[in-house]
Amino acid sequence: MKNRTIAVIGATGSQGKGGVHSLMKEGTFRVRAITRNPDKYTGDAHEVVRGDLTDLSSLTEAFQNAYGVFVVTNFWEGADEVAQGKAAVQAAKDAGVNHFIWSTLPNVERISQGKYDVPHFTGKAKVDEWVKDAGFQHFTFVQPPFYFQNLSGMLGAQPQQDGSIGWTLPLDPIEKAIHMSDINDLGKVVAGAFLNPEKVGYGSYLSLSTELNSFNDILEAYKANGKKYSFNQVPAEVFSNFFPGAGEIAQMLAYFEEHTYMGPDSKAQIQLAREIATEKFTSLHDWIKLN
Ligand code: NAP
Repeated sequence: MKNRTIAVIGATGSQGKGGVHSLMKEGTFRVRAITRNPDKYTGDAHEVVRGDLTDLSSLTEAFQNAYGVFVVTNFWEGADEVAQGKAAVQAAKDAGVNHFIWSTLPNVERISQGKYDVPHFTGKAKVDEWVKDAGFQHFTFVQPPFYFQNLSGMLGAQPQQDGSIGWTLPLDPIEKAIHMSDINDLGKVVAGAFLNPEKVGYGSYLSLSTELNSFNDILEAYKANGKKYSFNQVPAEVFSNFFPGAGEIAQMLAYFEEHTYMGPDSKAQIQLAREIATEKFTSLHDWIKLN
């Protein structure tokens, strides 16, 4: 393995940055960051190369001489994740990549038997079949959980009508439904997977989950760190009118409540991710303390 190159798509983003960091820290591999803007790259990878998931030839070029690639697509930037996933598979095949790691999510459509429509989960899961059928010597699926970082970002606590600060969501706060982690810890799983192709490189699913929490657990973790937040449950129909895209979030939360984030058969996948990781994961309590 020594000095073989791992190319990381999304190296400037939440998932890929953690991947680059853990691979660099572990030290076995040569790490190639891929970005659409290499001139702006400020990370610590050994090299940086231009690559765009919407431009097949740039990807094939970016994957040249790579032993492994990690690929994540960004739904929130409007990506056609199926098209981008297929392009990444094609480019990796053309470049002779040995180990392909795909950042995917549970297939909500299949798990809920069509009841819930959550395209940013199901779209990624649809690419899994292309990865499986592509004929890579090694291939692995990683499933990132709900990022702790969402709690201080796009799903952060907001001022409420009653003067408190907290969340208004269509979710029962006592349900332990949300698998969550510090997203930087995904890199520990990705690095572990590249180091252990014989163990997890034949299509294993590695689901990162440091904790399975209810919203009340989240409030408790903040309270233990001296922050008091409120939670207000609203019906999904009401929430869906709050902002554009709220309907999909409502469907996602309803899916979490019924099946949990990672789905009903995720225990072994969560355990395998823990076993393969190069380092221990950060708890929500410690993450809040540190951030
Ligand atoms: P992020 O921090 O927003 O960064 C996006 C990354 O994607 C950047 O590094 C960007 O690279 C890269 N990228 C976007 N379009 C690209 C393209 N056409 N070609 C090459 N690179 C491209 O994103 P992230 O959080 O790491 O990943 C986003 C994905 O995570 C989403 O699809 C989301 O559904 C999924 N996810 C999120 C959560 C959550 O709780 N938030 C949980 C599970 C999964 P450059 O700009 O440098 O080119």
